[in-house]
Amino acid sequence: MSEKQKDEITIVAGPCAVESEEQTMDMGEKISTILHIAASYNIRGMFRGGAYKPRTNFVVQNGSRSEKVFEGTGEDGVKWLAQVAGQFGIPVVSEVMSEMDIRHFARYLEADRDFLQIGARTSQAFALLYEVGGYGFSVVLKNPQHGVDPAEAVGSLERFQKNKELAYCIRGQKRPIDPSGENSAEHLAYLTSLHASPHQYRDARNLNNIASIGKLRSMPSLDNVSLWYDPSHIFGGKTDEMRRTIGDYAKKAITEFGYDGIIVEVNDRSATAKCDADQAMFSTLRGIDWSQTKVGLDPEQKPLSLVDVVKEIMFYQVQRGATTMLHGALEADYKTLDSLRWDLPLERLVH
Ligand code: PEP
Ligand code: MN
Repeated sequence: MSEKQKDEITIVAGPCAVESEEQTMDMGEKISTILHIAASYNIRGMFRGGAYKPRTNFVVQNGSRSEKVFEGTGEDGVKWLAQVAGQFGIPVVSEVMSEMDIRHFARYLEADRDFLQIGARTSQAFALLYEVGGYGFSVVLKNPQHGVDPAEAVGSLERFQKNKELAYCIRGQKRPIDPSGENSAEHLAYLTSLHASPHQYRDARNLNNIASIGKLRSMPSLDNVSLWYDPSHIFGGKTDEMRRTIGDYAKKAITEFGYDGIIVEVNDRSATAKCDADQAMFSTLRGIDWSQTKVGLDPEQKPLSLVDVVKEIMFYQVQRGATTMLHGALEADYKTLDSLRWDLPLERLVH
C-alpha cells in the first residue's frame, strides 16, 4: 500500500450511474473542469459513476406497467469512464459488484490511476474482496448498511493485499427496523433518542454516522487508510432541505471533522436520472435548466453546488497552509469558478 499524501484532500464527484456515453462525457467534462481548478490547492479530483448498480428493488411500477429496474450499463459504462479519464485527465472511481466483472475494469481502466469501489451491500463479500485484492487498483470500501464496526472494517480492508491505495468511506447506516413491521411506541422512543444527535435529520435517507471518524482515526491499523465521507447516500434528497444538507455536510466533513475526502453525487439532469435522482447535486447553479432537475421550488432552500463545496475546501486548504497557494490566487480562482456556466443547447438536454 502506498503512503497517504499528507494534507491532500480528495473530492470524488459524478452521477450515481453512468447511463449513456453522452451523459457520462457531459458530466465528465464539467466536473473535471471544476476539479482541475482546485488541483493547485492540494485537492485531488476524481470522477465517479456506477456502471454496475446494486438496486434494492427488482421491478418498478411505471404507470400500470411493471418494469425491471435499471441495474447499470455494465461493460459499456466502464468504457465511457475510461473515455472520461483519457479525454479529461481525471482518475475515475466505479463500483465493482461481482468478481466476474473485474476483468472489464482491468481491461479499460488503469490500475495505477483509478479506484474500484466496494459498495455497502458487498462490503463483506469476501470472495469479491479477495479477487479485488489481487489487482493493483486503489480501492474505496463503503461501510456496510448496518453501520461502522471498526473490527469489520479492518477485516475487510485486510483482504486488499496488492492494492495501491485504500480508502474507507462513511456512507450512513440504516435506521433500526422495528421487527413488528410497525412503529411501536417503544421503537419510536428509540428512534427519537437516535435523532437527538445534532447531526440527524428525520427526512434523511440514513442515519448520519459522521462521528465514527473519531474511533477509526484512533486505530493504528488504519493509519494508512484514507477516510472519506459520502453525504449523498446519507441524506438522500427527499426534501429541498436534505438536498441542501448534502452540500453543507460535504464541506463540514472536511473542514470540521477532518475527513481526507468526500464522494458526492453530481448530475445536472436529475429529472431523467435512472437512480438516486433526488439526491443529485449540481455542478454549478449557473446555466442549469431547472426543468431538467428534480429540485423543488423552495427559493429558501437553494441547493449547494459542487462549485460551492469546492470553493470552501480550497479556502480551507489555504487557511491551514496545506497548499503553497495564497489568498490572492484564491480570489482569482473563485472568479473563474463563479464564471463557469453551461447553457446547454436543448437537443443535448433531451435524449
Ligand atoms: C453508490 O455509490 O452509488 C452506492 C450504491 O453506494 P452504497 O454502496 O454506499 O449504497
Ligand atoms: Mn447512488
